[in-house]
Amino acid sequence: MKICIGGGGAMGSLFAWQLWRSGAQVHIYDPWVDHVQAIQDHGLRVDYAQGQEIAPIHASTDAHDIGPCDVLMIFGKFHQTESLIHACQPIVQADTLILTLQNGLGNIDILRNANPDKRLAFGLTTLTSELHGPGHIESSYSGTGETFFWPLDGQITEKERQLSALLSSPIGTMTLDAQIELRIWKKLVINCCLNTVCALANTNVAGVTATQGVWQLFENIISEIVTLASIKQIPLSRDMALSYLSQVCEDAADHFPSMVMDIRRGKRTEIDCLNGAIVQQLKSRGMSAPCNETVTSLINVLESRA
Ligand code: NAD
Repeated sequence: MKICIGGGGAMGSLFAWQLWRSGAQVHIYDPWVDHVQAIQDHGLRVDYAQGQEIAPIHASTDAHDIGPCDVLMIFGKFHQTESLIHACQPIVQADTLILTLQNGLGNIDILRNANPDKRLAFGLTTLTSELHGPGHIESSYSGTGETFFWPLDGQITEKERQLSALLSSPIGTMTLDAQIELRIWKKLVINCCLNTVCALANTNVAGVTATQGVWQLFENIISEIVTLASIKQIPLSRDMALSYLSQVCEDAADHFPSMVMDIRRGKRTEIDCLNGAIVQQLKSRGMSAPCNETVTSLINVLESRA
């Protein structure tokens, strides 16, 4: 199966490496010249719990060099999705499956608008990865990560089954799951609470959960998310969200969410598809989300100082 990773940064490279290990024909498209050059010259360097590996993966800054693929996995940040999918058009043929495992709300809509007649799939992953420099990533998830996905049309073909088998590796599993929307919203809760509050406090998960009063803030953020979920008929309850959040806080106490790193590096965050999306979507229905709006504005202040 020929697969292209569109956006081969921290997460895209991690998936490219897993696919390469499983024997898939994998390519990376990325507009970052130094990163692509480093992968071409020395291979992709991956540090992981069991050691280090160099993967000789083909990478290019020009999607024409890669050509049509069976699967295109989009892994840019939210604000890059639109330009990324347009740059990747030479990869998309009539039966290409376009898959996003990006965080937050809205990426799938951007992909669908750009390719209304193509098969699309969406999902999420609990794996985490960090980019150390051109051609060098570290798989930062210590356990076995879980990835879930589901095609928008609900039709499971041999392609989805093969992809799922290729991405079930020692570091993670890849499962087709019809309840994907609920899983995505549960992850949204984690990102809206932990990414933003850790970024505002410039600390890790343990650093914020040790603070008195933070759970009231989490409850307020969650209450607005649950309101939107119920409008969209996503069966997410307040108790379900809170119990999932406390489990993640325990399991990932040492974790520094990516938004902390984005702010530290002066990079744009994904606030617009997280708390910002809750605000926008409730506003468009004539409702307010004061808690998520405040958090979004505070993150915007940090971004503008970069
Ligand atoms: P990243 O910044 O490391 O990688 C993004 C890549 O996209 C970069 O290599 C960049 O060069 C490239 N890119 C594509 N289009 C671009 C454009 N128009 N302008 C500039 N650069 C462009 O980001 P990441 O951490 O790999 O995150 C990718 C997605 O995966 C995000 O949606 C994120 O929410 C999701 N995700 C990340 C993690 C993680 O641990 N890193 C975990 C779960 C989900």
